[in-house]
Amino acid sequence: MAPRNEKQFDIFVIGGGINGAGIARDAAGRGYHVAMAEMGDFASGTSSASTKLFHGGLRYLEFFEFRLVRESLIEREILLKAMPHIAWPMRFVLPVYAAMRFDSDTPTARLLKLFLPWMNGRRPRWLIRLGLFLYDHLGGRKILPGTSYLDLKSAAEGAPLADHYQHAYEYSDCWVEDSRLTLLNIRDAQAKGAVILSRTRVTEAVRHDDYWEVAWENQMGKRGKSRAKLLVNATGPWVDNMIKTLTPDHTQNAVRLVRGSHIVTHRLYPHNKCYFFQGTDGRIMFAIPYEEDFTLIGTTDWDHTNMTEKPVCSPEEIDYMINFANQYFKKPIVRKDVVWQYSGVRALYDLGANSPTEATRDYVLALDQVGGAPVLTIFGGKLTTYRKLAEKALVKIDAALAQKTQAWTANAPLPGGDIPLTAIPSYQQELAQKLPFFDGFTIRRLIRQYGTESLEIFADAPHQDSLGKAFGHGVTAREIDWAIAHEWVTSAEDFLFRRSKMGLRFSAEQVKILDQYIQEKRAGLCKAG
Ligand code: FAD
Repeated sequence: MAPRNEKQFDIFVIGGGINGAGIARDAAGRGYHVAMAEMGDFASGTSSASTKLFHGGLRYLEFFEFRLVRESLIEREILLKAMPHIAWPMRFVLPVYAAMRFDSDTPTARLLKLFLPWMNGRRPRWLIRLGLFLYDHLGGRKILPGTSYLDLKSAAEGAPLADHYQHAYEYSDCWVEDSRLTLLNIRDAQAKGAVILSRTRVTEAVRHDDYWEVAWENQMGKRGKSRAKLLVNATGPWVDNMIKTLTPDHTQNAVRLVRGSHIVTHRLYPHNKCYFFQGTDGRIMFAIPYEEDFTLIGTTDWDHTNMTEKPVCSPEEIDYMINFANQYFKKPIVRKDVVWQYSGVRALYDLGANSPTEATRDYVLALDQVGGAPVLTIFGGKLTTYRKLAEKALVKIDAALAQKTQAWTANAPLPGGDIPLTAIPSYQQELAQKLPFFDGFTIRRLIRQYGTESLEIFADAPHQDSLGKAFGHGVTAREIDWAIAHEWVTSAEDFLFRRSKMGLRFSAEQVKILDQYIQEKRAGLCKAG
């Protein structure tokens, strides 16, 4: 077979968030010659700043987004099987309280007001039960348990909540490590032949009749040009900027930028279930067990002006989330309980919704092949739908490039995910036996990060001394070297916040030492060629 040309591609994907990553992987696996460029670290945009759920989106039922909910519910279990290391089932406790009133203008609230006017401003218990019934049955659930009732007066889940919350429903969704999800898709794309341009910004693209010439520059100042028959604009919240770069005649914005922030506190309650809180403003908030010793609370929904402004969680958002949660928790959270916060921007396809909360969460794929080589633009999209979105993108790409390829990702595990969900506990035991020098927390973390690749990383490590320098909390040079070599780690921040969440535990001094090690290691590798 003739060697592939590293400057001429079938498809050039701009953006290394989950949507770009999913499309690059799917396309590479079908035999397309693919390049992908990401201007920062992979998943450094929205795809590391989510609530980290594979979920159907119970709340979207109120907006009658049945198509999206059904597709997401079906995807939950497909994805769970493909990555049982970075995704796992979770139970959600939804307290119901008859006296609550909601300032809500969803289609469901309007219908209720029209036909049952005395229900105005309420979300009655039967309505929530009906929603959960649909949630259980819309998506062909097989692995995850269905809804059940919880008496909060006697159940352990009632203990952290204010006494007037006496009833709740409990339902299933799934957790996923968002930035690792993105990274593993990119690693798999690379394994299938995709050329990955990390820390490389696309600065310009010139359209010709049957190809694009894409100009890029990486963070080391290296510039280059690549040709591709088709471009994919998967730049998430930067999508409008990229449209204007690609097609300068285009001036109108297509997405609404909506900032969502989260706060992290030390663990607020002992059990492992999440809470789904309903607010009087009609919004909802999750409280989720996080990284074993923490609780994640979010999210907000605030308009964000433009992407030249880095999204940060404002003091008002912190107070909003604290006040929201404090309507439920018996022991109030205060500002000093917040140990970390993060923010991301949703790019919601703008159909002229009144408020950010009402804007559709569904995605739109727009193929433009008028005036030269085709460009496929991705608007919106959730982590949960990324695989399906990629499949649909490939249908359009096949048509534009006059090719016929087969979908393949539904049953294909991501790297480290080639193990059944039910075998994770025994794998954990095996790992603990083979790596006896790690404590229980580190063993669990390694499985959540690397799955079945854990043993590859620590192969031939008979004792602790063979792991090199120890950076604290079970992180050793052996792991860092592997992450530099296989996961594009270039700084302590990459490793501590996007390859893992060990940043929650590292002191400033430990971060400095780790960063220094990474810089020295990389410099050494560069010298060695
Ligand atoms: P991004 O992840 O932002 O990726 C776009 C990438 O393009 C960026 O990395 C950027 O650096 C790159 N880029 C931009 N311009 C250029 C250029 N010129 N050259 C090269 N690269 C460029 N979904 C769920 O399913 N479950 C959830 O629980 C969930 N929670 C969420 C909570 C919040 C607060 C938010 C904001 C979103 C949430 N989502 C959730 C949605 C989900 O996170 C996003 O839909 C998804 O991450 C978007 O991915 P993306 O690839 O489109 O965008």
